[in-house]
Amino acid sequence: MKLLLSLNSLMHAIEIMEPEKKGKFTLALQESHIDKISAELEQGKDVELKDVEIESGLLSYQGRHVSLYIKANGSSARFHISDCSTLQSMRLNGRFERYVVTNNTSGEFVVDTSYGETKARLKVCKNCLRKLNYKGCNTTTQIDPIVQHFNMAEFFATYSSFFPHMPSRLAETAKSGYTDDWSKVSSHYRVEKNFECEECKVDMRAHRALLHVHHISGVKSDNRPSNLKALCIDCHSKQPKHEHMALSHSERQTINDLRKAQGLLDVLNDWQELFDYSDPGVHGVLHACQQAYLKRPEINYFVENEFGELAARLELAWPKHKFGIAISSNDIEDATKNGWRVVSVNEFLDNYKYQAHNLRE
Ligand SMILES: [Zn+2]
Ligand SMILES: [Zn+2]
Ligand SMILES: [Zn+2]
Repeated sequence: MKLLLSLNSLMHAIEIMEPEKKGKFTLALQESHIDKISAELEQGKDVELKDVEIESGLLSYQGRHVSLYIKANGSSARFHISDCSTLQSMRLNGRFERYVVTNNTSGEFVVDTSYGETKARLKVCKNCLRKLNYKGCNTTTQIDPIVQHFNMAEFFATYSSFFPHMPSRLAETAKSGYTDDWSKVSSHYRVEKNFECEECKVDMRAHRALLHVHHISGVKSDNRPSNLKALCIDCHSKQPKHEHMALSHSERQTINDLRKAQGLLDVLNDWQELFDYSDPGVHGVLHACQQAYLKRPEINYFVENEFGELAARLELAWPKHKFGIAISSNDIEDATKNGWRVVSVNEFLDNYKYQAHNLRE
């Protein structure tokens, strides 16, 4: 059954009430029920390779971020997380296998063995990690520890800006462990901190719902002020043990728009600050840029059209060269129309070695 509902009268009522002018009312797609396709993907769904789409080098099935493996390869199978060289050659050879896509984050996969189906812990494909320069695996660090500690939930959260359907946020919204007066405590705490993120200092008065109160020790019943920290949702997702916390592209952009308007992005002094403030989906790019000694890019750059209006938003930009990187294909298109050369994360990682040398100055 499809439920259609109109929000026009609600919107109208809000207008009449004249809420604080600065406040922006946004409706994000939040799925409160597990739809059929999500349930199937959780279990693992048999698909043909042609039905798996490539989204900026990542694997996508019906708008959802997935991993893929071949069931018949048993417990020695590697699972794929990008359009790596192995997958590309499989596609070229038209190899027919039972491909399974899944968004399960347990790290266990249902595979075939001579005794029948069983669950096995599979390892992530190294070619996939290299393709994404995941955690800078091509550059700053050894790849084996990254394979060893690969965490599916963290991986999906890293790239949540690339997909219209968000990974489940059940883990965050679980009420367990909080004291009964938590909502009171947390709203008092935010008032006390003037609605400012204690990490990046962004003023969240206009978007109060995106300012969280975090328990530093992880113990949710310990509400002593020394254990609390007001954090914008972006800084919150970058805290230790919060690697699974996925944000939508618009949430990340909202935070960076506020930071930009408040002058917090004007002077970023080192690469670490770029990592702290940028969408984690471009971290692979940042690792590559740092390794190649490129000039530090600007974050959340606005490309303007001839009338000085916002034409496109770039995740990373080198304005002097009119070159940038964007996550949304609309931004890539609109920036291109306005005289910029803008590429996807995937395209940059595939080609930067040959063309990035001019970005050193
Ligand atoms: Zn692979
Ligand atoms: Zn923050
Ligand atoms: Zn937290």
